[in-house]
Amino acid sequence: MQDNEQPVDAAGHRASTETREATLLSGAVIAQRPLTLRDQNKLTLATRRRTARAVSDALTGLLDATTVEVMDPGIYTLDAQGRFPWRDALSGDRMDALLNLRRASYPDGDKALCEVRCGTCGDTFGWEVDIETDLLRRPYPPATLAVLREGRPLKAMVGAHTVTFELVTGASETRYARMLGDHPEREVSVLLRSRIVDVMGPDGPINRGEILDWLDGGATGARWTGLSAADAEALQDAMDAADGGYDTEVEAYHPACGGATRFDLPFSALLTPARQVRERKLARRRGR
Ligand SMILES: [Zn+2]
Repeated sequence: MQDNEQPVDAAGHRASTETREATLLSGAVIAQRPLTLRDQNKLTLATRRRTARAVSDALTGLLDATTVEVMDPGIYTLDAQGRFPWRDALSGDRMDALLNLRRASYPDGDKALCEVRCGTCGDTFGWEVDIETDLLRRPYPPATLAVLREGRPLKAMVGAHTVTFELVTGASETRYARMLGDHPEREVSVLLRSRIVDVMGPDGPINRGEILDWLDGGATGARWTGLSAADAEALQDAMDAADGGYDTEVEAYHPACGGATRFDLPFSALLTPARQVRERKLARRRGR
């Protein structure tokens, strides 16, 4: 690694070139190198484009580039070159690796700065999230990990139908964003659909192209009546109960008016060092 590729913090200190080890939520153990300036350029480009696909792909590329060693692959199978399958990795593991990368790269890597719109007065203010204490980390249930380790599918019953589903992964998040773009008016169905692998009914499997219609009935005159809200919720609960990961909903308090606002920590805030966000905000204020 060249010296001029290392990130430099606000005080002018060069970040450590030491690798940093992390035990991911699923139990895999990896080591990552700190971010370089080249990595940062790629990230900045992706977060500017702002599409879920661009951000997800940038994170995959970043995790690929910074993972220097896999001490224990856990539930995963490494490819022929010994690389970790980051694209299809569980979202909780991707998040763990991203947080580890922040800590490896920046002195204030545990802090993420967000811009929040106050739910009480409507003003916008900056809020610092402590990723160590403010984010809820939910481990994957041992039963789920056992199923994945054995390569068996995860299943849930909906009436007489058996639904095979996946946990939330980088790939399923991208799929969700793409499907939502195609069917913006069917958000709840799309959320379920993005995680379903296949559905087996009493008369055989449901055509993949019809699973979304099977869920919500589709257009008037379609052959499916759709699930009841209670069945849909039970399916969602079964998927969630098998899953782990991070709860990224946090609460901010507006110092000016005292109002509390709950918001979902934007992924872009985790990809950008707090210092950069601060500088950009200052630049904008000066430009006013
Ligand atoms: Zn306010």
